[in-house]
Amino acid sequence: MPVIDQEKCIGCRSCQTICTVDAIHFKDKKCKIDPELCTECYVCFRMKICHEGAIETQDLAGFYKQFQHVLSDPVETHGVTGVTGRGTEEVKTNDVSGRVKKGEVGLSIDMGRPGMGVYLRDAEKVAMACAKAGFKLAPQEETPLAALMPDLNTGKLIDECLNYRLLSVIVEGRCEEEKIKDVLKALMKVQHEIDTVFSLGLISRVDPDGHCKALEYLDELGIPQPHRGKVNPGLGKPLSTA
Ligand code: SF4
Ligand code: SF4
Repeated sequence: MPVIDQEKCIGCRSCQTICTVDAIHFKDKKCKIDPELCTECYVCFRMKICHEGAIETQDLAGFYKQFQHVLSDPVETHGVTGVTGRGTEEVKTNDVSGRVKKGEVGLSIDMGRPGMGVYLRDAEKVAMACAKAGFKLAPQEETPLAALMPDLNTGKLIDECLNYRLLSVIVEGRCEEEKIKDVLKALMKVQHEIDTVFSLGLISRVDPDGHCKALEYLDELGIPQPHRGKVNPGLGKPLSTA
């Protein structure tokens, strides 16, 4: 974890301008990192912002600290969970991976943002609300968060991890098409109980005639669908028929 050597720090406050979540505080003419707020993203260390060499790293103590770091630092390899990225790669290329099958709808709930971050206790609230409404949370081999979720049926996380703050985390899973309205309603309710923001990725297969039932459900619930496109051509892989 990053720490500021108080002997070397001259209190120039440059590091404060670069911290992704406002975790560096100025007091008594020195800067200090608040370990409760720091997400372990390592931006302050990696960017070499401190000309005094006062920002150093210490060993990350234990699994949860390492988990926090690998999810918050985009250049880190995920030795902790063995899952690459934040877990969205396969579902974003669903046309070839076939993770979400015909008759199912997938959701990728991307929680937290630079400047805000996300506490795992809030990720738990979202996961539990969705699970209760019939959402099948993705297992550990598909998404990193599941490594902290002993029971995918409830979405409850391990208590020890709840106060860790990450830059962002993804709650991922799928359900039968008929259940997606209940899941979205649960999400609309729980959004008022969390202290961060999220964006919602909806994954659904489109019929050969271009029809997509999931979009009708969004319309019925008054959820807007921004017209943004991102094409993942699948690098020549065959289209999934699942
Ligand atoms: S950039 Fe370095 S010297 Fe300046 S306040 Fe931060 S830690 Fe201290
Ligand atoms: S590691 Fe990231 S969150 Fe922590 S102090 Fe540095 S920039 Fe801020």
